[in-house]
Amino acid sequence: MNNETQHGYLVLADISGYTSYLAGTELTHARDILTELLELIVKHFKPLLNIVKLEGDAVFAHVPKSKISRDETLLEMMESTYLAFRDRVEGIRRRTTCQCNACKAIPTLDLKFIAHFGEYVLQNISGITELVGSDVNLVHRLLKNHVAEATGWKAYVLFTEAGLAQMNVKMENLHVQVESFEHLGEVKTFNMNLHERYKELKEAQRVFISPEEADWASTRIITAPPYVVWDWMNDIQKRLLWETLHDVQPLLRPGGRMGTGAQNHCAHGKNVFVETIVDWHPFKTFTIDTGSALMSRSLEDHGEKTLMNIYMKMKLQMPRWLTRPLVGLMLRIGKVDQQFDTLVRLIEEEAKKSGKVNDDQNRS
Ligand SMILES: [Zn+2]
Repeated sequence: MNNETQHGYLVLADISGYTSYLAGTELTHARDILTELLELIVKHFKPLLNIVKLEGDAVFAHVPKSKISRDETLLEMMESTYLAFRDRVEGIRRRTTCQCNACKAIPTLDLKFIAHFGEYVLQNISGITELVGSDVNLVHRLLKNHVAEATGWKAYVLFTEAGLAQMNVKMENLHVQVESFEHLGEVKTFNMNLHERYKELKEAQRVFISPEEADWASTRIITAPPYVVWDWMNDIQKRLLWETLHDVQPLLRPGGRMGTGAQNHCAHGKNVFVETIVDWHPFKTFTIDTGSALMSRSLEDHGEKTLMNIYMKMKLQMPRWLTRPLVGLMLRIGKVDQQFDTLVRLIEEEAKKSGKVNDDQNRS
């Protein structure tokens, strides 16, 4: 049990429309649907966040700053949770033939997130861990806000000023809203429309090198969840630990964040090049165009482990029978395969270290 003051993210995922949905409906059907949706949120949160508790139609979680190196990963995690939530709601709607009010109202269910960064302490009462602090109160008070009223949005991420500043992204198209609470005063919030984001991510073209197209392919099994592997492949400081790069500098961030079209300036010895992200589906796939090659990576979630596939295709104007042996030789010289061995080793070393730290955490 950690009694010290923690600095970290406080996150609430709240199923919107649920209160009106429950009123006057077939209760057991409503309960089953809620259970399924809450389980889905918990499953997506759990690898990265510590679940504090379920609060009716909401999931409350936290993560100390020391556990997150790349803050943007948390934002991507909320978005991938939302994608899965929306797809599941649609799936439930499609498989349900029941005509009761609960089942008919399934499409009205949606999801919002409150994301704040602040201080809190863990308090253990008879084996039940609670989070205590005024930041904990604030994040709960923010569940009642005026975002939907002002924007008409049904699903959104609400960042507090502290939450957004810590995330260190410069997102455009955020709706700024000031909420006013008794005893807490005025609170400025920054809100992102999740319906719009869902559409963007769903419509984003998948650019992925297939095994048939690849000049080189490799596979690794890593004892860590996909978000951890994703983090290691995108956190610049971490990349420098395993890739044979001497420098990586962010060059372009469309919409103020990582995603399709983002560019990094990379240095590899005397070789300087710009890499462009051409495919970006957090925790699942991404493809980089280095100018001379395309490299795709996919992550498959296998519970405690991640299966990573790597495919590379050189942009050479040569017949295939010539490119494959040539690429093999170039990659051996560039020690590309060994880089991924280093990546696996570093991730597993980190997992072992944090495993010890996590023993006293509220990670159920
Ligand atoms: Zn029903």
